Amino acid sequence: MEKSARPRTALNECVKVVVRCRPLSDREKNESYEEVVKVWPERGAVQVYNPKGQDKLFTYDAAYDCSSDTKTIYDEMVRPLVASVLDGFNGCVFAYGQTGTGKTHTMEGNGDDEGIIPRTFRHIWAHIENTASPDVTHLVSCSYVELYLEDVRDLLSKECKKLTIRGQELNGFYIPEMTSIVCKSASEMVRLMRAGNRNRASGRTDMNEHSSRSHAVFLVTVETAHRSTNRIRVGKLNLVDLAGSERQRKTGASADRLREAARINQALSSLGNVISALAENSPHVPYRDSKLTRILQDSLGGNSKTIMIANIGPASYNYDETVTTLRYAHRAKAIKNKPVRNEDPKDAKLREYQAEIERLRSLIEQR
Ligand code: ADP
Ligand code: MG
Repeated sequence: MEKSARPRTALNECVKVVVRCRPLSDREKNESYEEVVKVWPERGAVQVYNPKGQDKLFTYDAAYDCSSDTKTIYDEMVRPLVASVLDGFNGCVFAYGQTGTGKTHTMEGNGDDEGIIPRTFRHIWAHIENTASPDVTHLVSCSYVELYLEDVRDLLSKECKKLTIRGQELNGFYIPEMTSIVCKSASEMVRLMRAGNRNRASGRTDMNEHSSRSHAVFLVTVETAHRSTNRIRVGKLNLVDLAGSERQRKTGASADRLREAARINQALSSLGNVISALAENSPHVPYRDSKLTRILQDSLGGNSKTIMIANIGPASYNYDETVTTLRYAHRAKAIKNKPVRNEDPKDAKLREYQAEIERLRSLIEQR
């Protein structure tokens, strides 16, 4: 994006933090685990009972209990963010939490509870259909990458090609060789998400274990051109399902496993360090410490509107992990972003396409 195209002043906007508590699982019910989490949706508050001491109470932009569905979270929190992306802002929704607390359930969905990612696709295409006119052209493109042990893999390429992040562009991270597929409908985007997930799973003996150890980033870019004004707006949206935030158990793990665990935790602790540095207004923010934080650089403290969804479980045996997640999420509330509308960025694909169309048109006219 050209520097001159960016307005000098951007209004600060805090990262919005949402907590979602899943219901007790059947196993937890059968084993009669006590519930230690109480959600106060009307106050955006979450209370955790501490059998040994004082209860803990945290407040957020919103808190959802085990009876809430993803539709409500989408309509109340995510819909306005996607509307901004359609208006040329960058956005990010990321799910954080211990394995088994509902990150994938929230982002991708499960059975009848459609996730945030497919809801976003439908929202984008409903908007495109509702605003269709001869004056407007839209271009929607998708990429899907996975981060595992500091490797970035292209889930939409053959054999999940390894990718290199090249510097930080003004308008988001930049991975030159990342596959970007132009889509024509919400169902096509869902098919891409599923194809990427199959690639993610292929060759893995235990997909659940792998997905709890890797981060998945689905990137949607929406370009909108108005003929009458000759302006192009570009909104980029990162939809992120992070690796499980639990501390890796040391018991019984092999040396290889421990090294792997340390590196997985390193990306999430880098994320924690970035969040702390931003929350404390520190002059140095250690984005470069991991690929995850490089990819999320704009989403945290930069040109983006961002929602963090912290997923927790209600059972007593998760008490420590739950409190850790709630503290982490609480810190993220202090992060201030500076979102600006991306108008006429250099990397707009529509501009290239329009130039190509003009070139072909003039070739036809010359004949
Ligand atoms: P994660 O991705 O955080 O490891 P999952 O999304 O795979 O967790 O969820 C673990 C299990 O809990 C799944 O069986 C999922 O269907 C169930 N689950 C998670 N959140 C909810 C919810 N809000 N309501 C009902 N079931 C849920
Ligand atoms: Mg998952």
